[in-house]
Amino acid sequence: EAKRLPGTSVHYAQEHTPNGMGALLTAEQALRAGLKNEEFTLLYQPKVDARDHRLVGFEALVRWDRPGQGRISPLDFIPAAERTGLIVPLGALILTQACRQIAQWRADGGAVVPVAVNVSPLQLLDAGFPTAVMRTLAEFDVPPALLTLEITESAAVTHMAQARDQIGQLRQQGVEVALDDFGTGFSSLNMLRGLPLSTVKIDRSLIDPMPAPDAAAVVKSICDLAGVLSLEVVAEGVETTEHAAAALAAGCNVLQGYYFAKPLDVPAASDWLQGRR
Ligand code: C2E
Ligand code: MG
Ligand code: MG
Ligand code: MG
Repeated sequence: EAKRLPGTSVHYAQEHTPNGMGALLTAEQALRAGLKNEEFTLLYQPKVDARDHRLVGFEALVRWDRPGQGRISPLDFIPAAERTGLIVPLGALILTQACRQIAQWRADGGAVVPVAVNVSPLQLLDAGFPTAVMRTLAEFDVPPALLTLEITESAAVTHMAQARDQIGQLRQQGVEVALDDFGTGFSSLNMLRGLPLSTVKIDRSLIDPMPAPDAAAVVKSICDLAGVLSLEVVAEGVETTEHAAAALAAGCNVLQGYYFAKPLDVPAASDWLQGRR
């Protein structure tokens, strides 16, 4: 019988132990098994220059391939991973996979673009995080400038000083840091000013209503502010040619969304890197 974990749509089945005793796998046990059995995969979504639509980076997005349950969205298991603390080992695994892939693309000899990895608040605020990131980069001989970390406001809202310190350490080493989903939370303007960021990503809920004039004005004002603060601006969720044109006109530097590409498996992402799409 499939059960639903409260607050998520992670389904976990009634499983049977070898001795025949029924045992309900908790979300934690399922995640632990997934980690052990290497069931997590990264997809890579292209980011393009707003003017010429050429590839300028990828965002790594995790998927969980659960035997018998198909491919599970991160929206359905990241919350459980955060609640159980397993986001820390899962996040480390994701970072390792991304760095291994960057190293592979470098070894293939073609052009390489920076890869962005999403980081949960719990990971970012872990005191050992900056060191762990640098160690992983070194392990795969990846230049720090090829890694971007995408963080959300929630970490910074509650622990601003700690977040600033951690981000500062990473930036000092050459890692780029982006504020993700901008415009969905609160204290956003304070975050932009108070954290040593390189990039702000405007949430797709602000991009979607463009080119409506009021929506375009909001996006333009974010871009103007980002310009003053020397931040690059990425528009998320660009789904149409109208979104792409309006985001460029508003001042966004980089575009990401289904209009250009969905999150891709490694062969398809490699085709983009080689200009073959
Ligand atoms: P996010 O970091 O804001 O990632 C963007 C999400 O928007 C991705 O969903 C992407 O597939 C989706 N998307 C991209 N372009 C479009 C578009 O044009 N239209 C629409 N409707 N959606 C678009 P995804 O892959 O399901 O990831 C959802 C969220 O899960 C991410 O949001 C991120 O917060 C989290 N996540 C994903 N991978 C990781 C990870 O490795 N670690 C952590 N901690 N969180 C992750
Ligand atoms: Mg992101
Ligand atoms: Mg985002
Ligand atoms: Mg978003």
